[in-house]
Amino acid sequence: MSKADYYEVLGVERGAGDQELKSAYRRLAMKYHPDRNPGDHTAEEKFKEASEAYQVLSDADKRAAYDRFGHAGVSGSGGFGGGSPFAGGVDISDIFGEMFGEMFGGGGSTGRRGSRQQRGDDLRYDLTIEFEEAVFGTETEVRMRRRESCETCHGTGSASSRGPVACGQCRGTGQVRYQQGFFAVARTCGACNGSGQTIADPCATCRGEARVAKEFKLKVKVPAGVENETRIRYSGEGDAGRFGGPKGDLYIVLSVRPHDFFERDGSDLHCVLPISFPQAALGDEVVMEGIDGPVTVKVPEGVQSGREVRVRSKGVPHLNSSGRGDLVVQLMVQIPRKLTRAQRELVKQLNETLKVENKPTSKGLMDKMKDLFS
Ligand SMILES: [Zn+2]
Ligand SMILES: [Zn+2]
Repeated sequence: MSKADYYEVLGVERGAGDQELKSAYRRLAMKYHPDRNPGDHTAEEKFKEASEAYQVLSDADKRAAYDRFGHAGVSGSGGFGGGSPFAGGVDISDIFGEMFGEMFGGGGSTGRRGSRQQRGDDLRYDLTIEFEEAVFGTETEVRMRRRESCETCHGTGSASSRGPVACGQCRGTGQVRYQQGFFAVARTCGACNGSGQTIADPCATCRGEARVAKEFKLKVKVPAGVENETRIRYSGEGDAGRFGGPKGDLYIVLSVRPHDFFERDGSDLHCVLPISFPQAALGDEVVMEGIDGPVTVKVPEGVQSGREVRVRSKGVPHLNSSGRGDLVVQLMVQIPRKLTRAQRELVKQLNETLKVENKPTSKGLMDKMKDLFS
């Protein structure tokens, strides 16, 4: 396959001057740059072809050799081998990356220009509540600071209420341009952070910020059944936006204090209840302290230690629906560490008639037995 003529590739006359070559190459490079033609191999080839042609023709010696001997005169010395995107020792992909990055604004700067509208920040408030408050819900008032629209300047940020004006540094473009080689490279303007606008006569109260920090109070309603780390969103209660931008949101993040003995598992409450051997053997009704008043727990006759008893609807109210979870009580039979003389006598008598077969068994079998007898 014969290579295309470099002058034809760039679309210039054989006698074209340096400036003409430059602008021809630049036009082609912009058109066929891979960043602008993702996945387009034809464009990529054309880009490489143009780069190679420019690399040769912009070098006086190589150009002379090319003019005399054609491709043979420059192959090997300045070939664009393997598509390496280098021209004259300068990585042009870098130059283009910068230029195109700015040109396409990284998705933002172009759209942002001419409008300083900014959404207010979201705020977070950590609220610690008691275990019972999480279970049954509560209402409380929180005080915190947020940025609110400045009343002095009515949120314009300027003393004359004129609002933002075109930035003097970048003449409102949001970008400052400078020359790098023969490329004009654009950078985000530091004076206006790329917005293209500044406050010429800043308001004395907010110093041109258009917002001031203020303390405010908010009534927080914690619904029944919330859990630790539940986030409650208050739409539009965050920082005020700037220059007409919407307000941010406020998130109340709940931290629930642990209970002395109840633990939560969703809407079920769990606790452990110690019982005596006679209570376990004979069965009993025990009144214990529930989350909201006394609860009667039925101890079944002959219950094994560790067995759980479920008391319906004495748990946590379901969040966003009616009804409550259960109270799950684990019965733990306590063996007395010390007995009185009389108790000892009674247990001895009991031992005469109540024999357990002291024969080794596996833990698995023991667990099965427990289930069977519980
Ligand atoms: Zn102000
Ligand atoms: Zn500027």
